[in-house]
Amino acid sequence: MIRYAGVISDSVVDGTGLRLVTFLQGCPRHCPGCHNPELIPFDQQKGLEIEEKEFVRLLLKRITQEHSGITFSGGDPLMQADSLCAVLERLKKKKPELNVWVYTGYNFEEVRDWPVMKYIDVLVDGPFVEQKKDLGLAFRGSSNQRIIDVPKSLAQKGRVVEIKLGVQSA
Ligand code: SF4
Repeated sequence: MIRYAGVISDSVVDGTGLRLVTFLQGCPRHCPGCHNPELIPFDQQKGLEIEEKEFVRLLLKRITQEHSGITFSGGDPLMQADSLCAVLERLKKKKPELNVWVYTGYNFEEVRDWPVMKYIDVLVDGPFVEQKKDLGLAFRGSSNQRIIDVPKSLAQKGRVVEIKLGVQSA
């Protein structure tokens, strides 16, 4: 089972291009200034629990030719790493070319050996740090967060390969 709070079809701020974005429920970090505080609680009243297989079906129905890929945000999607892994394994089986971004409060070094990582193309890592907030940064909220090319980083035995995407225009 996987607990999610919603899916939007038309985001251009959660990764490159037009993206389907799904928000997974729950994060233990409580960063001051969190952009989605309603997605922090883990309790059963929040979000919707669904079987991984059903979730994949739902996502596949929403993905169109217009989408550059899918993004998992939250909350922290890696708090449900095993379920997310099962979802991504199925998704990538159906659509091997699907570009997958995941936002997490973990640092890459903490999660690089997790099985789910082999299905992720780009990881935006680290918690939001209000003192490092920078509205000019593309696809992330604070300057400690990195946009990481996961396949390249894993191939380099975990040496982080960052993607430099410049500054987002206002
Ligand atoms: S890690 Fe992200 S989702 Fe979790 S509390 Fe911090 S900003 Fe919010």
